[in-house]
Amino acid sequence: MTNKLFVFIIILFFIAVLFTAYHLFIQKELPKDINQNPPLGNQQIKCLDCNIILISVDTLRADHVGTYGYLKPTTPNIDKFANQAYVFENAYASSPWTLPSHTSMLTGFYPQKFHAELPTDILPENALTIAEILSENGYKTVAFSTGAFITRNQGFAQGFATFNELQNWQDAQEISQKSINWLNQNQKSKFFLFIHSFHTHDPYSPQDQFIKKIDSDYQGYLNSINISQIVDINTSKTNLSEYEKRRIVSLYDAEIAELDNYFGQFFKTLEDLKLMENTIIIITSDHGEEFGEHGGFAIHSYSLYDELLRIPLIIKIGDQLNHKRIQNLVSLVDIVPTILNIINPKSPILSDGQSLVGTFNNEFNNKAVYSETASSKQYMLQVIEEGENKIVKGTFQPKTRDNTQILPKAKMVRENNYKLISNFNGSLELYDLANDPNESNNLINSLPQIKENLIKKINSY
Ligand SMILES: [Zn+2]
Repeated sequence: MTNKLFVFIIILFFIAVLFTAYHLFIQKELPKDINQNPPLGNQQIKCLDCNIILISVDTLRADHVGTYGYLKPTTPNIDKFANQAYVFENAYASSPWTLPSHTSMLTGFYPQKFHAELPTDILPENALTIAEILSENGYKTVAFSTGAFITRNQGFAQGFATFNELQNWQDAQEISQKSINWLNQNQKSKFFLFIHSFHTHDPYSPQDQFIKKIDSDYQGYLNSINISQIVDINTSKTNLSEYEKRRIVSLYDAEIAELDNYFGQFFKTLEDLKLMENTIIIITSDHGEEFGEHGGFAIHSYSLYDELLRIPLIIKIGDQLNHKRIQNLVSLVDIVPTILNIINPKSPILSDGQSLVGTFNNEFNNKAVYSETASSKQYMLQVIEEGENKIVKGTFQPKTRDNTQILPKAKMVRENNYKLISNFNGSLELYDLANDPNESNNLINSLPQIKENLIKKINSY
């Protein structure tokens, strides 16, 4: 009995030695490309049959959002959300104003493809929107939009079973509450919910509690600013002190804080209903706002500097709690292919953009991003004043444009750190954003090779 036990122990000992030797010597020698685990490729990031929520916060500069480094407490709820999401540091709008940028956000193509470039343009029927694609694939589609170009009248209801237009531009409370009500009633359906809030767009008239939160030391009289006052500032009819200009920026920030507060309630509803677990949620914007960096103040639409084009893009995928900051240059045209790729990795994607799923796994591409505007400063100031009156009175009428009409445009291309702007008058500007993020040093005469390369791209995009 004792001998048998001894032999058994010896056998066990040799098995242990062989096992250790295998791991120490033999397995170590295996070539590195033999890996039985699933590859760390695009296929890992998917959320099949997930709901989709796309939130467009109109006129939200990336650099006024906490997760993008802003120091004032504008966005505690968005920041908390971003801590469990992919945050794109270099996301670009395809235009510095609403209609063309939303065309890209909802179709995956640059605005020129559909001639959706002027305030009176209509997104044509032949434009295939993400809402149409999802609707055809069994999703219940709903939109809450605060008008102003993103309307049924201008073609943006395509694909939405329900397209709700709000009239109140100070919409933070209303749009979040209506979205919450809708979620409560439709939580069992597979859905696509699109929210377009105009709250952070001018005019700025935030509630007192949010102004106090942002700018408690202010001693002046300015607690709101309307469209006519903004036009007067931009046509030099009104000259403001630096102190009052800073106040106007605070009013804008307070509008962001107010929106963030109500979106906090919306996020809480998603948690309470356990919808965070099976929903892809995307927060972005259509453009920023300028505050004197390059001439304009509390306005947007006619120039192509980063204060107008750098937007937040934050993507959370189902129950994944990944937080990653991604440096790749990306664009609004990438949103549609990304959604389609996540819900069905095999789906064919036709788009000017590309799926961002690869970037979640550190794939780097050095693609170029583009932006354009057909609205000159003079034209836009006119449209802002007239447009607001017409929208308020309900007399604003879009029209189908002759597609052969060639519009004067300003265009922008960015590749790597370099950005080329081609202005309405044909003049060119070239900036090295790594060393000159404020775009103050025009290098157009110093870097001929980069200039030629970017001119070629801008002429052929
Ligand atoms: Zn807008």
